[in-house]
Amino acid sequence: MTDLGNSPAARDIASVLHPYTNLAVHRENGPMIIERGKGIYVYDDSGKEYIEGLAGLWCTALGFGVEELVEAAAEQMRKLPYYHMFASKSTGPAIDLADRLTNMLPIENSKIFFANSGSEANDSLIKMVWYYSNSRGKPEKKKIISRQRAYHGVTIASASLTGLPNNHRSFDLPIDRILHTDCPHYYHGANAGESEEEYSARLANNLDEMIMSEGPDTVAAFIAEPVMGAGGVVVPPAGYFEKIQAVLAKHDVLFLDDEVICGFGRTGNPFGCQTYGFKPDTITMAKALSSAYLPISAVAINNDMYEGVMEESNRIGVFAHGFTYSGHPVAAAVALKNLELMEERDVMGHAARISPVFQARLKALSDHPLVGEARGVGLVGAVELIADKSARRNFQPGQGVGAYISARASDQGLIVRAMGDSVGLCPPLIISEAQINEMFDRLTIALDETEAWVHTSGLRTAN
Ligand code: PLP
Repeated sequence: MTDLGNSPAARDIASVLHPYTNLAVHRENGPMIIERGKGIYVYDDSGKEYIEGLAGLWCTALGFGVEELVEAAAEQMRKLPYYHMFASKSTGPAIDLADRLTNMLPIENSKIFFANSGSEANDSLIKMVWYYSNSRGKPEKKKIISRQRAYHGVTIASASLTGLPNNHRSFDLPIDRILHTDCPHYYHGANAGESEEEYSARLANNLDEMIMSEGPDTVAAFIAEPVMGAGGVVVPPAGYFEKIQAVLAKHDVLFLDDEVICGFGRTGNPFGCQTYGFKPDTITMAKALSSAYLPISAVAINNDMYEGVMEESNRIGVFAHGFTYSGHPVAAAVALKNLELMEERDVMGHAARISPVFQARLKALSDHPLVGEARGVGLVGAVELIADKSARRNFQPGQGVGAYISARASDQGLIVRAMGDSVGLCPPLIISEAQINEMFDRLTIALDETEAWVHTSGLRTAN
């Protein structure tokens, strides 16, 4: 590494422990420092412009530099910078936000619990599910079924729901009472000649068998993202959620819908469950809820669950759960303004209208020699890089193909996220048609350069 003196990069290496980073590589290479943002673009400390192809971490729906959000925060800061919601205290922004959410959510009569991140929201939800089972006099009904490759966060219980090996390995996870059923990835998981509907039926049957073998009286809930995000943007096969929902209903198992990425217009409807036609008992939200300008998340629970939780709290004397920052008034004011702007500017309508352009450019990449599958819905998608197209054989993880293409995209002024060998795209919802084309033009150059590197390095034969 070159001598960085007392530069910000040197001080970063000296003092920061980075999330989701190879810490040894970071110590050698240092950080990429982002200084400012405008619209769909961010700029690094040398002034270089990048299209934020992942909206940060799937979250900056309105893009960067929205003055109204800054103003909403400043105004609330001046008026009441902090207050809490313990012991029946409340604030105007938290009430207005909960009210707005209950009116737009596809769960009738829901109640909203606020937290600060997707992980905290899902963790809180697990506790509410357990509390609810106890309130129903079903203390054995506690297991939660998640899916392989799911992503539900990183706190101890949420990381246990997550179905990615690196989130468990060496962290001594998952905790008990959390199980993982199949990832619904038709491209890799289907048998020869199996239709999407048949594949979905097989997976629903596997879930049914899991519940039966565990004992339906021990299984409280099933959790799913409508489209799996961090697991590689896995779009469910035809009929999947309908068949899963029928299995859950048969066994009195709650359906927990994690909309942390899909919520607020990402899949072409306000919520992913509307795109895929299922009816959840709970919905977890974060990210686009505030366009990530401030940390805030929420869990909506249906009325039956609320009644159970309420009765249990009365039996014990308190619902002893909540965070210092639950319903933080500044974060709530920003989220509220974010949702108002989304409505005024018809941002979700725009995203739905523009998504065919995004999907057409995305799907066209499946003809590229390096791309096995190009998959997506609405304004989210991924291309999966593949060593052997006809055998659907991936590269070895150690070959670093995902990292290589991310670096080439970065050279082109495009930030994407490599999840294994799948390259994810999830731009701000405000992206224009011309910007979508620019984004895919840059990605195509990165793909071509990566293909050339794979070829000259002999990675396919070494595979
Ligand atoms: N759930 C889903 C579907 C997510 O994509 C994420 C984060 O990417 C989380 C939960 C966890 O959210 P956070 O990183 O805010 O804890």
